[in-house]
This record gives sequence, C-alpha cells and structure tokens, in this order.
Amino acid sequence: MSDAIKVLDHGFVRLVDTMGDEQAIVDAARVSYQQGTQKTRNNRGLIRYLMRRGHTSPLEMCELKIHVKMPIFVARQWIRHRTASLNEVSGRYSVLPSEFYLPEKDCIKMQSKQNKQGGSEPVSSSIASVVQDVMKEGALQNYQDYENILQGYGVCEIARETARMVLPLSLYTEMYWKIDLHNLLHFLRLRLDSHAQYEIRVYAEAIAKIVQDWVPIVWEAFVDYKLEAHPFSRQEMDVIRRVFASYEGDGSVQGTPREVREFFAAVALKES
Ligand SMILES: Cc1cc2nc3c(=O)[nH]c(=O)nc-3n(C[C@H](O)[C@H](O)[C@H](O)COP(=O)(O)OP(=O)(O)OC[C@H]3O[C@@H](n4cnc5c(N)ncnc54)[C@H](O)[C@@H]3O)c2cc1C
Repeated sequence: MSDAIKVLDHGFVRLVDTMGDEQAIVDAARVSYQQGTQKTRNNRGLIRYLMRRGHTSPLEMCELKIHVKMPIFVARQWIRHRTASLNEVSGRYSVLPSEFYLPEKDCIKMQSKQNKQGGSEPVSSSIASVVQDVMKEGALQNYQDYENILQGYGVCEIARETARMVLPLSLYTEMYWKIDLHNLLHFLRLRLDSHAQYEIRVYAEAIAKIVQDWVPIVWEAFVDYKLEAHPFSRQEMDVIRRVFASYEGDGSVQGTPREVREFFAAVALKES
C-alpha cells in the first residue's frame, strides 16, 4: 500500500490497489480486430486513437481502488458518480471522530454573480476570520451535542445512528472507492474542471497524480483529447470554418499524419 496524499486539512487519498496497465488496454483493443497481442502499431498510437475516437471499453480493463478521507459535503458530490463501488465508514456502528474541515481564509469567497453555484473573490481577511470562528465554534458545539446525546445526558446510552444527526456536513468521513479507468477519467474531467467546487477539485488533483504515474500514456491522451479539448456546437463550427476559410495551414497543427488529416477534415480546410 502506498503513502497517502494529504488533501485539505485532515483528508487524504491513498492508493490501495490497481488492476491492469496500459498493456492490458492495448491487448483488449487488439482483440477487436482479431490480432491478439500482435503489435500492428505502437501502444501510444493505439491508446491515443482509442481516446480520440471514444473507443472506451478497453479502458475498462483497468481498475483503481483508493482509500479516501473527505468532508461529508465532498462525499455527497463524490457519490453522484454512480459507476464506482464504495464502502463508507458507518456512523451507526462507530463513534465518529471529532474532525472537521475548516476552509482556509482565501477559500472563503463572495457569492459569484455569474455562477450561482460558485464563489468569486475571497472576502476580506477580517470577515474570513469571523466565518472561520463561527464554523469552528459551530462544529465543536455540534460535536459536544453529539457526545451528550450518545451518553443520553447521563440517563441512558442513545444509539449512534440517532446521535449522528446533529453532526455537520464539514465532518470528515472515509471510504474505499473502486472504479474502472474509463469512468475514473469521466469523474476527473468533471471534477478537475474549474466549475467543480474547490474542495472536491483538490481530491481530483491528487487522484490525477496517481493516474499519471499508473498509466502515463493514457493520461497524456486524456489531457490532449478530453481534459483540454473542447467540443463545439454546429453553430460554433460554422463560425470556425468561416474564420479559417482562407487558411491553408502553416504546419503548426501537432499530431500524427492521421491526426492532422482529421483536423483539416473537421474544419473543412485544405491540408498544407
Ligand atoms: C460542476 C458540477 C455541478 C453539479 N451540480 C449539481 C446539482 O446542482 N445538483 C445535482 O443533483 N447534481 C449536480 N451535479 C452532479 C451531476 O449532475 C452528475 O450527477 C455527476 O457529475 C455524475 O455525473 P455522471 O452521471 O455523468 O456520472 P456517473 O454516475 O459516474 O455516470 C457515468 C456515465 O454513465 C452513464 N449513466 C450512469 N447512470 C445512468 C443512468 N441511470 N441512466 C443513463 N446513463 C447512466 C451516463 O452516461 C453517465 O455520464 C453537478 C456536477 C458537477 C460536475
């Protein structure tokens, strides 16, 4: 088992296990056209082709299992990704420890006017201090209430499943999480995006480092064709074609000859 990557104030991502590697992906892909493990083209070219064309099932041959500790409000966003398997600590079974997430001052932001789900500029340091104090005192008070309820105010023990109802969303929880590489990349594309909340984005960044070490060619293709690529609407494509109508290419389009051909075909330009 690997060392944990620290995330936020008390959280972490720890790699537990992986199944499969880039060879498993290309082996599975080559079965498609009945050529077994014969190397008809290099692995990098094939993986890039799969990513570019959305031929994703070979990526499902690889799986990642991690142990994650995150605030409950992050876990609520996380578990919306239904294509993973998970097992979370039970607040019915265990007394949950007193660990709460407290945002750094520069993470306490004004409500964005453009994005109703997000923040904009950090608030002033003095307001941020007040918010931090209120959050901290609130969490400690909630935890004190939790302990008091557990002890039934000295009369009788009260069930943990009931007592936990007073705990706040900032309390840390833990889970084991397992997902195949195709769905993991989908998770990362959504949660590395600047629109994702900062507190889940930092977990996605930690997982991205693990993926980069595990399957570097897949990661490179993912960044090129998914993460930093952008799908355009029909109307947007019309504008792009008009703008580039007289462009004949200057050799600056990067990629294999096939990729360059596909680019020129997409924007209906003459290849230089
Ligand atoms: C920035 C951001 C803001 C968000 N805001 C909100 C919000 O305000 N409220 C809210 O409720 N959620 C919100 N979400 C969650 C979001 O709507 C998705 O539920 C979440 O991102 C999981 O995406 P997914 O369904 O593609 O992933 P997964 O559940 O992992 O599914 C992966 C893919 O499998 C397929 N799939 C899975 N299940 C089904 C199914 N039942 N039927 C058909 N196809 C399926 C789909 O192709 C799907 O894309 C937000 C997410 C992000 C990233």
